[in-house]
Amino acid sequence: MTLTPLQELANSLHDCQRCKLAKLGRSQVVFGVGNPHASIMFVGEAPGFNEDQKGEPFVGAAGKLLNDLLASAGLSRDQIYIANVIKCRPPNNRDPEPDEVETCKPFLLQQIQLIKPTLVCTLGNWATQTLLERKVGITKVKAQAFHLKDFVLFPLLHPAAALHQGNLLPTLKEDFKKLKEFLDKNTKPAEPTNSAPTPSAPVLKIDSPQPAQMDLFG
Ligand code: URA
Repeated sequence: MTLTPLQELANSLHDCQRCKLAKLGRSQVVFGVGNPHASIMFVGEAPGFNEDQKGEPFVGAAGKLLNDLLASAGLSRDQIYIANVIKCRPPNNRDPEPDEVETCKPFLLQQIQLIKPTLVCTLGNWATQTLLERKVGITKVKAQAFHLKDFVLFPLLHPAAALHQGNLLPTLKEDFKKLKEFLDKNTKPAEPTNSAPTPSAPVLKIDSPQPAQMDLFG
């Protein structure tokens, strides 16, 4: 059976030894999961304990909350693709270190290149700063669309932040409402083609950028 380029990329990382996380207790590389033709991709930070055990992103408590939030925006996991900035669990769920992000980022970028999402929703500071290539706080940029060269970025708070700090949950829910409004405004019915995406996957058509938005970065 011929493998798709995305499957080949996953296989090439199967026993990745490129950074120190390979020797710091990870059980497996957590590549990503979901619809390889998705128009919408979600990007988190790094696998935690449950993800490391199962080999899938967002399967623990943060993942359950993410599923509810996705449903509130009219999305299900089989319509989207989910990956993390770094593919191996850092010991004790510590923050990723700069060399780990630098080593793993090219593989996230390759996933994006192969999946070609129209919209990438980053969850939390790490994913947002990695894809914006700017050290900007998530609270300043969350729940708005940034038109980058190849896709539109829509940063959101990380669900785990709302699990640790309950007072963030209403904000997170409100921000997913804004995501739904954005999707409703920019989704068009799928057109039948030979290489059709999975029929249930929303097809986004997003209008061109508002130049003023980049002022946010100061
Ligand atoms: N947090 C993340 O950032 N990614 C996961 O896969 C799970 C929790």
